[in-house]
Amino acid sequence: MIEIPFTNATLPARKHIALVAHDHCKQHLLTWAKRHREALAEHALLATGTTGKLLQQQLGLEVTAMLSGPLGGDQQLGAWIAERKIDVLVFFWDPFEPQPHDPDIKALLRVAAVWNIPVACNESSADFLISSPLINLAHNHRIPDYGHYLQDRQS
Ligand code: PGA
Repeated sequence: MIEIPFTNATLPARKHIALVAHDHCKQHLLTWAKRHREALAEHALLATGTTGKLLQQQLGLEVTAMLSGPLGGDQQLGAWIAERKIDVLVFFWDPFEPQPHDPDIKALLRVAAVWNIPVACNESSADFLISSPLINLAHNHRIPDYGHYLQDRQS
C-alpha cells in the first residue's frame, strides 16, 4: 500500500466553485443556484458544458464552461481539482440513471476526496455548504504532500 504524506494548504476566501448536474438534476441545480445567486456571485464559477451554459443563461453569472460531461468535462474538472484550481464541488449526480460516462464521474468524486475539497452531491448538502461561514473565509485543509511523496519514492 502506498503511504501518502500530507501537508497543509489554504482554500482561499474567494473560491473557485465547480457546478455539475446530470440531465434529470439540472432543473434542481438551477433552482438551487437561483436561490443562492447572491452568495455564488462572490466566487468564481466553473461548470461542465451544458450545466455552465444554462447557469449563464438563467442566472446571468459568468461561468467558465468546460466540455460537456459525457465528452470529457468531468475529467477536465477533475484535472483542475488535482492542480488545486477548484476549491469546492457541487455535483448533483443522478442516483436513478446510469450514465455513459460513469467512470469519469467516479474519477471526479475520487479526485475531490483525494484533494480534500468540500463536495455537495445533493440539494440539502449544497444548502449546508453554501451557508457555511467557511465559504467566504480562507480555510486550512490537509492535502497530499506530493513533494515529500516524490522524495520518499526516490530514496
Ligand atoms: P453537462 O455534463 O453539464 O455537459 O450536461 C454534466 C455531466 O453529465 O457530468
